Amino acid sequence: MATTMNCAACGANLTPNEQAVKMAYCQADLERAFRFVQDPADWKAPIDCYVRFPSADALTLIEAAVQHFTATPAEVEPVGEGVYRVRAAGYRAGPAGDR
Ligand SMILES: [Zn+2]
Repeated sequence: MATTMNCAACGANLTPNEQAVKMAYCQADLERAFRFVQDPADWKAPIDCYVRFPSADALTLIEAAVQHFTATPAEVEPVGEGVYRVRAAGYRAGPAGDR
């Protein structure tokens, strides 16, 4: 019997496709989170940005989004004053990249 899985952020039922690739979040939440950290001109570029006052849940979601869209792990480093630096090699430099 298939079990229904829910998005860890918004609670929506995950689609069969989302479950098939073992996503913990729905596509919409991952896209929203990725937009915070991606290079606005080139989403395949390396990621290096600062996020201000994220919750622990938001950081977990951002890490999942970076892994999902770039196939490279995010490195999250607190730099003080509620600010976190988020870095990743990015899609192009990662194993899924079109070099
Ligand atoms: Zn969701």
